Amino acid sequence: MSNRIMIIEDEEALVVLLKYNLENEGFEVLTESRGSKAVAEVEAHHPSVIILDWMLPEMSGVEICKLIRSKPDIKNIPIIMLTAKGEEEDKIKGLGAGADDYVTKPFSVPELVARVKAQLRRAPEPQQEKEKIFEDIRMDMVEKKVFRGDNYVHLGPTEFRLLRTLMDVPGKVFSRDFLLKTVWGDNIYVESRTIDVHIRRLRLALNKYGPDYIRTVRSTGYALDASQHSDEEDFE
Ligand code: CA
Repeated sequence: MSNRIMIIEDEEALVVLLKYNLENEGFEVLTESRGSKAVAEVEAHHPSVIILDWMLPEMSGVEICKLIRSKPDIKNIPIIMLTAKGEEEDKIKGLGAGADDYVTKPFSVPELVARVKAQLRRAPEPQQEKEKIFEDIRMDMVEKKVFRGDNYVHLGPTEFRLLRTLMDVPGKVFSRDFLLKTVWGDNIYVESRTIDVHIRRLRLALNKYGPDYIRTVRSTGYALDASQHSDEEDFE
Protein backbone atom coordinates (compact mmCIF):
# COMPACT_ATOMS: atom_id res chain seq x y z
CA MET A 1 0.00 0.00 0.00
CA SER A 2 1.20 3.50 -0.77
CA ASN A 3 2.13 5.92 1.96
CA ARG A 4 -0.87 7.75 3.28
CA ILE A 5 -0.58 11.47 3.98
CA MET A 6 -3.23 13.40 5.90
CA ILE A 7 -3.60 17.12 5.30
CA ILE A 8 -5.41 18.95 8.08
CA GLU A 9 -6.03 22.42 6.71
CA ASP A 10 -9.09 24.60 6.07
CA GLU A 11 -7.67 26.69 3.25
CA GLU A 12 -9.28 24.92 0.34
CA ALA A 13 -7.02 26.21 -2.46
CA LEU A 14 -3.95 25.09 -0.55
CA VAL A 15 -5.46 21.68 0.16
CA VAL A 16 -6.22 21.17 -3.55
CA LEU A 17 -2.69 22.20 -4.50
CA LEU A 18 -1.01 19.96 -1.95
CA LYS A 19 -3.26 16.99 -2.64
CA TYR A 20 -2.58 17.25 -6.36
CA ASN A 21 1.17 17.41 -5.92
CA LEU A 22 1.40 14.69 -3.29
CA GLU A 23 -0.79 12.37 -5.35
CA ASN A 24 1.53 12.98 -8.30
CA GLU A 25 4.32 11.72 -6.08
CA GLY A 26 2.38 8.51 -5.55
CA PHE A 27 1.01 9.24 -2.10
CA GLU A 28 -2.51 8.47 -0.99
CA VAL A 29 -3.88 11.76 0.34
CA LEU A 30 -6.64 12.26 2.88
CA THR A 31 -7.87 15.69 3.89
CA GLU A 32 -9.72 17.19 6.82
CA SER A 33 -10.66 20.84 7.27
CA ARG A 34 -12.31 20.79 10.70
CA GLY A 35 -10.08 20.92 13.72
CA SER A 36 -12.61 19.11 15.87
CA LYS A 37 -12.68 16.09 13.52
CA ALA A 38 -8.96 15.88 12.91
CA VAL A 39 -7.88 13.57 15.72
CA ALA A 40 -10.68 11.08 15.05
CA GLU A 41 -9.69 11.03 11.37
CA VAL A 42 -6.06 10.36 12.27
CA GLU A 43 -7.15 7.52 14.56
CA ALA A 44 -9.36 6.05 11.85
CA HIS A 45 -6.87 6.18 9.00
CA HIS A 46 -3.39 6.02 10.57
CA PRO A 47 -1.57 8.19 8.03
CA SER A 48 2.20 7.87 7.61
CA VAL A 49 2.69 11.63 7.89
CA ILE A 50 0.37 14.45 8.99
CA ILE A 51 0.52 17.94 7.53
CA LEU A 52 -1.18 20.10 10.14
CA ASP A 53 -2.11 23.75 9.81
CA TRP A 54 -1.64 26.05 12.78
CA MET A 55 -4.88 27.97 12.28
CA LEU A 56 -8.00 25.84 12.04
CA PRO A 57 -11.64 26.35 12.93
CA GLU A 58 -12.85 24.86 16.23
CA MET A 59 -9.47 23.56 17.43
CA SER A 60 -5.97 24.88 16.83
CA GLY A 61 -3.13 22.95 15.27
CA VAL A 62 -1.24 23.04 18.54
CA GLU A 63 -4.13 21.52 20.47
CA ILE A 64 -4.51 18.82 17.82
CA CYS A 65 -0.80 18.12 17.90
CA LYS A 66 -0.82 17.72 21.70
CA LEU A 67 -3.85 15.47 21.55
CA ILE A 68 -2.25 13.22 18.93
CA ARG A 69 0.90 12.99 21.04
CA SER A 70 -1.17 11.88 24.03
CA LYS A 71 -2.71 8.88 22.25
CA PRO A 72 -0.55 5.74 22.28
CA ASP A 73 -1.71 4.29 18.96
CA ILE A 74 -1.07 7.46 16.92
CA LYS A 75 1.53 9.37 18.92
CA ASN A 76 4.47 8.30 16.74
CA ILE A 77 3.08 9.63 13.48
CA PRO A 78 5.34 12.43 12.19
CA ILE A 79 3.66 15.85 12.12
CA ILE A 80 4.69 18.73 9.87
CA MET A 81 3.15 21.97 11.11
CA LEU A 82 2.25 24.80 8.76
CA THR A 83 2.73 28.18 10.41
CA ALA A 84 2.07 31.75 9.37
CA LYS A 85 4.85 33.90 7.98
CA GLY A 86 7.37 35.23 10.41
CA GLU A 87 5.67 34.07 13.58
CA GLU A 88 8.72 32.66 15.25
CA GLU A 89 6.80 32.13 18.42
CA ASP A 90 4.38 29.85 16.59
CA LYS A 91 7.25 27.66 15.45
CA ILE A 92 8.59 27.33 18.94
CA LYS A 93 5.16 26.52 20.33
CA GLY A 94 4.60 24.06 17.51
CA LEU A 95 7.77 22.18 18.23
CA GLY A 96 6.99 22.33 21.94
CA ALA A 97 3.60 20.75 21.26
CA GLY A 98 5.32 17.81 19.57
CA ALA A 99 5.55 18.69 15.88
CA ASP A 100 8.48 17.07 14.08
CA ASP A 101 8.99 19.85 11.58
CA TYR A 102 7.43 23.10 10.53
CA VAL A 103 7.06 24.96 7.26
CA THR A 104 6.34 28.66 7.10
CA LYS A 105 3.63 29.95 4.75
CA PRO A 106 4.02 30.82 1.97
CA PHE A 107 6.17 27.86 1.08
CA SER A 108 7.12 26.16 -2.15
CA VAL A 109 5.33 22.89 -2.84
CA PRO A 110 8.55 21.00 -3.73
CA GLU A 111 10.00 22.03 -0.38
CA LEU A 112 7.02 20.64 1.51
CA VAL A 113 7.08 17.43 -0.55
CA ALA A 114 10.79 17.05 0.28
CA ARG A 115 10.03 17.47 3.96
CA VAL A 116 7.26 14.88 3.80
CA LYS A 117 9.71 12.44 2.25
CA ALA A 118 12.29 13.25 4.91
CA GLN A 119 9.76 12.38 7.62
CA LEU A 120 8.93 9.12 5.86
CA ARG A 121 12.58 8.12 5.73
CA ARG A 122 12.80 8.87 9.41
CA ALA A 123 9.62 7.05 10.32
CA PRO A 124 10.03 3.46 11.47
CA GLU A 125 9.22 0.83 8.88
CA PRO A 126 5.59 -0.10 9.19
CA GLN A 127 5.28 -3.54 10.67
CA GLN A 128 3.88 -6.30 8.58
CA GLU A 129 0.19 -5.99 9.25
CA LYS A 130 -0.90 -8.99 11.30
CA GLU A 131 -4.56 -8.19 11.59
CA LYS A 132 -7.26 -5.75 10.60
CA ILE A 133 -10.02 -4.89 13.00
CA PHE A 134 -13.28 -3.07 12.39
CA GLU A 135 -15.82 -3.13 15.21
CA ASP A 136 -16.34 -6.85 15.97
CA ILE A 137 -14.82 -8.03 12.68
CA ARG A 138 -11.22 -9.24 12.86
CA MET A 139 -9.11 -10.39 9.93
CA ASP A 140 -6.09 -12.49 10.77
CA MET A 141 -3.80 -11.57 7.88
CA VAL A 142 -1.25 -14.24 8.70
CA GLU A 143 -3.65 -17.18 8.89
CA LYS A 144 -6.03 -15.57 6.38
CA LYS A 145 -8.98 -16.13 8.66
CA VAL A 146 -11.90 -13.90 9.57
CA PHE A 147 -13.69 -13.76 12.89
CA ARG A 148 -16.75 -11.92 14.05
CA GLY A 149 -16.68 -11.74 17.82
CA ASP A 150 -15.69 -15.29 18.74
CA ASN A 151 -17.16 -16.83 15.61
CA TYR A 152 -15.08 -18.03 12.69
CA VAL A 153 -16.49 -16.65 9.44
CA HIS A 154 -15.89 -18.86 6.46
CA LEU A 155 -15.10 -16.77 3.37
CA GLY A 156 -13.99 -17.68 -0.10
CA PRO A 157 -10.80 -16.04 -1.41
CA THR A 158 -12.65 -13.40 -3.41
CA GLU A 159 -14.81 -12.42 -0.43
CA PHE A 160 -11.67 -12.31 1.69
CA ARG A 161 -9.98 -9.89 -0.72
CA LEU A 162 -13.14 -7.76 -0.94
CA LEU A 163 -13.37 -7.49 2.83
CA ARG A 164 -9.66 -6.71 3.12
CA THR A 165 -10.05 -3.81 0.69
CA LEU A 166 -13.11 -2.43 2.48
CA MET A 167 -11.31 -2.72 5.82
CA ASP A 168 -8.29 -0.79 4.52
CA VAL A 169 -10.27 2.43 4.97
CA PRO A 170 -13.50 1.95 6.88
CA GLY A 171 -16.12 4.51 5.89
CA LYS A 172 -14.60 5.12 2.48
CA VAL A 173 -16.86 4.40 -0.46
CA PHE A 174 -15.04 2.13 -2.91
CA SER A 175 -16.34 2.27 -6.46
CA ARG A 176 -17.14 -0.94 -8.30
CA ASP A 177 -14.35 -0.13 -10.77
CA PHE A 178 -11.82 0.23 -7.98
CA LEU A 179 -12.93 -3.02 -6.37
CA LEU A 180 -12.74 -4.83 -9.70
CA LYS A 181 -9.17 -3.67 -10.20
CA THR A 182 -8.10 -4.36 -6.65
CA VAL A 183 -9.81 -7.67 -6.09
CA TRP A 184 -9.67 -9.24 -9.56
CA GLY A 185 -6.74 -7.36 -11.09
CA ASP A 186 -6.34 -5.07 -14.06
CA ASN A 187 -6.31 -7.50 -16.90
CA ILE A 188 -9.27 -9.62 -16.10
CA TYR A 189 -12.65 -8.88 -17.56
CA VAL A 190 -15.32 -9.16 -14.91
CA GLU A 191 -18.82 -7.82 -15.17
CA SER A 192 -19.61 -5.13 -12.70
CA ARG A 193 -22.57 -7.10 -11.38
CA THR A 194 -20.18 -9.86 -10.36
CA ILE A 195 -19.07 -7.66 -7.51
CA ASP A 196 -22.63 -7.44 -6.27
CA VAL A 197 -22.81 -11.23 -6.19
CA HIS A 198 -19.65 -11.49 -4.11
CA ILE A 199 -20.77 -8.68 -1.83
CA ARG A 200 -24.00 -10.59 -1.25
CA ARG A 201 -21.99 -13.68 -0.30
CA LEU A 202 -19.76 -11.62 1.96
CA ARG A 203 -22.80 -10.12 3.66
CA LEU A 204 -24.43 -13.51 4.13
CA ALA A 205 -21.30 -14.88 5.77
CA LEU A 206 -20.65 -11.88 8.01
CA ASN A 207 -24.23 -11.15 8.99
CA LYS A 208 -24.72 -14.56 10.56
CA TYR A 209 -22.96 -13.17 13.59
CA GLY A 210 -23.87 -9.48 13.69
CA PRO A 211 -25.42 -6.46 12.02
CA ASP A 212 -24.82 -5.53 8.40
CA TYR A 213 -21.86 -3.15 8.23
CA ILE A 214 -21.56 -3.16 4.46
CA ARG A 215 -23.17 -0.08 3.07
CA THR A 216 -24.41 -0.03 -0.52
CA VAL A 217 -24.07 3.40 -2.07
CA ARG A 218 -26.50 3.46 -4.92
CA SER A 219 -24.90 3.48 -8.39
CA THR A 220 -21.46 4.01 -6.84
CA GLY A 221 -20.11 1.17 -4.81
CA TYR A 222 -19.63 -0.09 -1.28
CA ALA A 223 -18.25 0.99 2.07
CA LEU A 224 -17.79 -0.48 5.49
CA ASP A 225 -19.84 1.52 7.94
CA ALA A 226 -21.20 0.78 11.41
CA SER A 227 -23.19 4.01 11.77
CA GLN A 228 -26.89 4.44 11.14
CA HIS A 229 -27.74 4.60 7.48
CA SER A 230 -29.48 7.47 5.75
CA ASP A 231 -32.16 6.88 3.16
CA GLU A 232 -29.56 7.30 0.43
CA GLU A 233 -28.63 3.67 0.75
CA ASP A 234 -30.40 0.50 -0.08
CA PHE A 235 -29.85 -2.95 1.25
CA GLU A 236 -29.70 -6.04 -0.82
CA1 CA B 1 -5.86 27.52 8.16
